[in-house]
Amino acid sequence: MSDKKFCLDLTREDLLLFCDSQGIAKYRADQIFSWLSRGVVRTDDMKNVPKDIRGLLEEEFIFEGFDVIHKFVSEIDGTTKFVYRLWDNNVIETVVMPYKTGLSVCISSQAGCKMGCRFCASADAGFGRSLSAGELFGQIVVTSRNLGEKISSVVVMGIGEPFDNFDNLMAFIDLATSPEGLNLGARHITVSTCGLVPMIHEFADRKLYVNLAISLHAPTDELRSSIMPINRRYNIEELIPACRRYTEITGRRITFEYSLFAGINDDEENAKALVKLLRGMLCHVNLIAANEFPGSDFRRSPKANVEKFKDYLNSHGINATLRREMGTDIMAACGQLRRSVEGRSC
Ligand code: SF4
Repeated sequence: MSDKKFCLDLTREDLLLFCDSQGIAKYRADQIFSWLSRGVVRTDDMKNVPKDIRGLLEEEFIFEGFDVIHKFVSEIDGTTKFVYRLWDNNVIETVVMPYKTGLSVCISSQAGCKMGCRFCASADAGFGRSLSAGELFGQIVVTSRNLGEKISSVVVMGIGEPFDNFDNLMAFIDLATSPEGLNLGARHITVSTCGLVPMIHEFADRKLYVNLAISLHAPTDELRSSIMPINRRYNIEELIPACRRYTEITGRRITFEYSLFAGINDDEENAKALVKLLRGMLCHVNLIAANEFPGSDFRRSPKANVEKFKDYLNSHGINATLRREMGTDIMAACGQLRRSVEGRSC
């Protein structure tokens, strides 16, 4: 691990200090910062910065990474997946989805994931490391630059468990919402967790008013523990009160992600248990017709079961919609991303 800072983790103050220590005029710090905030991570592309200063920058900081090793574009819906190689050779995936309201980007929070959810391709590929705040931010600005288009919303639902990288996630949200960063409204950011309960409480106490999504996928401890190891550490009895507290403190509706797997969690018994669990909470259930990936034993629920499950929830007072599938032909959908070149997640 390098002790040098990655360029997109540099603040304006870091650059002012650098200029000061090298006898460089202060306005250069603003020039460099402006390039970085536009997703430029190669000093060669910083056209108004003299060569000797670029050389000094490279000696001091890391100006590498975010090489596009693959770019896939879905023929079905225009979803685009970028596979990026980071400066230390870790590989991550970033997915851009076109909606009527603008482009939404799904970013990874870690290279790999430790959580081990059985239905998830990201868990399959092991764990590399957590991403820095600049690497989270970089997935937005670099991707926006690669596409030549503005990003309107961000979901932290790619590879990794964001609350397992809490401090960097907080620094990222700060950067994404600040005028010096992306100036994004908190309502345009969604963070998804598999249920790290202490972090849900901490997140609520920070009062950031960011959307929170919970990867639930099962309404009982027995079933959830069998497919999501995190449930053995923080069970449903702890998770649900933490979610209720989040909605009470922030006034924000919480989303529960529920992937439907054939013969596992898609029958009326599970729908009933889910209604009982969520009754009275300010929430919404996002049903996902589960995505398959090579080597997985989990099969997607038949369409008729999905519709029946959705109707049961809606007719029993739980607001539920079926998530529009995006990028299934390029392995860019939920649960299909990997920390590898082939091909995420919550
Ligand atoms: S579903 Fe999310 S938390 Fe679970 S293994 Fe996949 S990336 Fe990690």
